[in-house]
Amino acid sequence: MAGRLKPAVAIVGGGWAGLAAAVTLADAGHPIALHEAARQLGGRARSLDWNGIRIDNGQHLMAGAYEQTLALMRRLGTLPLIERRQLEFLSPGFRLKLPRLPAPLHLAAGLIAARGLTLADKLAAVHFMHALKRQGFLLPNDIPAGQLLELHAQPDRLIECLWQPICVAALNTPLATASAQVFCNVLRDSLAGPRAASDMLFNRSDLGRLVPDAAQAWLRSHGGTVHLSSKVAGLGQEAGGFRLHGPDTQADRVILASHPSRLPDLLAGLPGTEALAGKLRGYAWQPILTLWLRFATPLRFPYPMLALGRGDAPWAFERNDLAPGLAAIVASAEGPHLHLAPEALKDRYLGLLGDRLGPLPPLLDWQVIAEKRATFACTPGLWRPDNRTPVPGLYLAGDHTAGDYPATLEGAVRSGVKCAQLIIAEEQGA
Ligand SMILES: Cc1cc2nc3c(=O)[nH]c(=O)nc-3n(C[C@H](O)[C@H](O)[C@H](O)COP(=O)(O)OP(=O)(O)OC[C@H]3O[C@@H](n4cnc5c(N)ncnc54)[C@H](O)[C@@H]3O)c2cc1C
Repeated sequence: MAGRLKPAVAIVGGGWAGLAAAVTLADAGHPIALHEAARQLGGRARSLDWNGIRIDNGQHLMAGAYEQTLALMRRLGTLPLIERRQLEFLSPGFRLKLPRLPAPLHLAAGLIAARGLTLADKLAAVHFMHALKRQGFLLPNDIPAGQLLELHAQPDRLIECLWQPICVAALNTPLATASAQVFCNVLRDSLAGPRAASDMLFNRSDLGRLVPDAAQAWLRSHGGTVHLSSKVAGLGQEAGGFRLHGPDTQADRVILASHPSRLPDLLAGLPGTEALAGKLRGYAWQPILTLWLRFATPLRFPYPMLALGRGDAPWAFERNDLAPGLAAIVASAEGPHLHLAPEALKDRYLGLLGDRLGPLPPLLDWQVIAEKRATFACTPGLWRPDNRTPVPGLYLAGDHTAGDYPATLEGAVRSGVKCAQLIIAEEQGA
């Protein structure tokens, strides 16, 4: 790197973390080159073509607490593609709606007015949230979320209607094995946060338009280069920088923003990273399955998302924005549904949807997309790597790096932004 030029940064992986890092660095005037192995950007939050309709690889949901994701979309000019709604939980025999009152009144009023809970259930929920608040949502030791609920004497019905759906949706890990600390972080920043933090954000376009396509256009117009179908096979250290094998290019700094399961291979051959690679190899994964349904006419949902049962039951989403008559049903985490043949799964979920909405219009088409490594299993005390690696100039970004959040879009964007800011700060301090 010569003179006053800012270091050139190569970013390996064009998921939301890599894109957030690239936009932040390009904004600060760094030359960036992003390499994405696939033919398109987006990673685990991407769009794809389904018989002429753009759908998402998996139905995603965001929350008002996703501050950095919202800031990124504001930067890219795509915020108008988001529909913001007050939180409403609807499952068979249960309804929780948070009114437009200042926090924490909105939660108290919502719980008091909730349908399907007894007074004892409601009081237990209030006591639980108070107890967590008193301890700053910090636990002395991380334990399974199910055990935390037991310690706080949470009634079964409350767990089934409220806590389990939140845990499974946010952590994508069953209650019995999910990290209670990360569950507390989620509660702190959503239900116990400012009123708007608990809002539900629905993307009213495919995920590609929301961030990946917009980021690609933005980067290209801000001097960045984006290489698609550019798989990086490994890295080598050279004087003052790195060589990227595969595209065979050089960079002063490198951010590895690939899926964490790919990192051990990418780190191979870099002295000092053996322990890091070894720990990442120990990660376990959780799946997410999405059933896309196309009906002859649009479905009428009472709210854009609807639980098809309690506990870890799937959720249905109205997606008429992508095509009239489109709906998505999402099943988070492991469970018996994974052993059903696609046809049987479709019939089962159609039955559940019919139970909630009444007679359904004719079904024109359907498709199941199963992402086997959708997220890391968010278990108690899980070690998560820092953005910095033992190799100077080499960084990690992604939903798995150390942070408060489970594997989510917000976790990925936060990580990408933080990683870019580290590089910018180091450069300014140099
Ligand atoms: C089906 C599904 C549903 C989800 N639902 C939600 C939700 O409702 N709300 C929410 O907040 N989160 C949700 N998530 C999680 C969220 O999508 C992820 O946390 C987030 O997208 C991770 O982004 P990332 O950039 O960290 O990683 P990734 O998206 O995995 O990006 C990594 C990128 O690196 C590329 N790559 C890998 N190896 C190489 C290489 N050698 N060279 C070049 N490129 C490489 C990959 O192709 C990929 O594009 C869901 C995930 C899935 C799969």
